[in-house]
Amino acid sequence: MNKFTYHNPTRIHFGEGQIAAIANDIPQDKKVLVLYGGGSIKTNGVYDQVVAALADHQWGEFGGIEANPQYDTLMQAVTKIQSEGFDFLLAVGGGSVIDGTKFVAAAASYAGDDPWHILANNKPVTAALPLACVLTLPATGSENNMGAVVSRGKDKLAFMSPLVQPRFAVLDPQTTLSLSPRQVANGVVDAYVHVMEQYLTYPADAKVQDRFAEGLLLTLIEEGPKALATPDDMAVRANVMWAATQALNGLIGVGVPQDWTTHMIGHELTGNYGIDHARTLSIVLPAVMQEQRSCKEAKLLQYGERIFGITEGSTDERIDAAIAQTIAFFKQMTVPTRLSDVELGSDAVDVIMASLESHGMTALGEHGKIGLAESRAILNTAL
Ligand code: NAP
Ligand code: FE
Repeated sequence: MNKFTYHNPTRIHFGEGQIAAIANDIPQDKKVLVLYGGGSIKTNGVYDQVVAALADHQWGEFGGIEANPQYDTLMQAVTKIQSEGFDFLLAVGGGSVIDGTKFVAAAASYAGDDPWHILANNKPVTAALPLACVLTLPATGSENNMGAVVSRGKDKLAFMSPLVQPRFAVLDPQTTLSLSPRQVANGVVDAYVHVMEQYLTYPADAKVQDRFAEGLLLTLIEEGPKALATPDDMAVRANVMWAATQALNGLIGVGVPQDWTTHMIGHELTGNYGIDHARTLSIVLPAVMQEQRSCKEAKLLQYGERIFGITEGSTDERIDAAIAQTIAFFKQMTVPTRLSDVELGSDAVDVIMASLESHGMTALGEHGKIGLAESRAILNTAL
């Protein structure tokens, strides 16, 4: 296990009715800007609960943050903050609203000339407005991590800063009842792939992280299909929500190698073709497993045995079975597993390769050895 320092400062309020907790968790003297998406919170009762909880605060709102939040939209929020003097941001929505709010928090305090440089040139975030969130879509873990992904045209780029990690997050599984089956499935698959990108590398003698990761994978495999089949089951909703939050909050990723290849290639697929984030991951991950099978051999065998009970056969047969079972789970969750499932062919491979190169994604993987040739092979396998 590698050395690490672990600190997750996000306070979690979990369970029914917990939106009320924001009343006490945002300092009374703060002027709060509530940020949200395309309007789902106005029809499912979440907005009304937030309004009730903010009864004793001074607050305003900014709606219209789209899925895969766009830089231009977010900069409109920055302008509003700077002209009206908000000093606390409350994101209410899914990963897009939370990620967008993180960027707004950093951009509103940015000293340079163009906050896009935070994403495009890795300019450090040196100050940010405090923020918190009410999560309505279990998927990204953004509610308790320091990462955010923002798009500008076809460029979909990420940044990280501890300064934009939410101070607190409300997780009320009731808020997820209005999700479409598509978004429920997307969320389960995104969380699953987050675990895989922190787990499927090489053994680091990290027994706790491995077992935690495997517990999350097993929970998602067990509860994900139930969330589609019996959507009103609150116990299922609660377990999916907590699993997705735990999947990307730093805990399972400490002290171990990580491989974010699937996400990096996936971002290019969303940027160029608008495919839902999770649906890019379910296409790319099986191909990464296939193409990287020799350097991931030990963990693929462990994954196959502990997650799917695969103990029989040669090494190659067991790895084939582990990949096949992963694809079967994704199919059960009704997400695509090949580029052809989303009507993309070899032309798209060239487009994605050009994007990866232009974004400097030329040394991916736990060894930094997934260069352009390896990414092309992954994409060809995913056709
Ligand atoms: P999302 O893009 O936030 O939301 C997808 C759709 O779900 C939106 O149309 C939204 O509608 C709707 N929705 C959300 N909650 C709902 C509810 N309770 N009922 C009904 N509809 C609801 O989806 P997401 O998967 O959470 O976020 C994806 C984004 O996060 C991508 O940009 C991805 O790259 C990023 N991401 C971030 C991280 C991270 O660590 N920061 C990790 C992985 C992915 P409204 O707009 O109307 O609310
Ligand atoms: Fe993700």
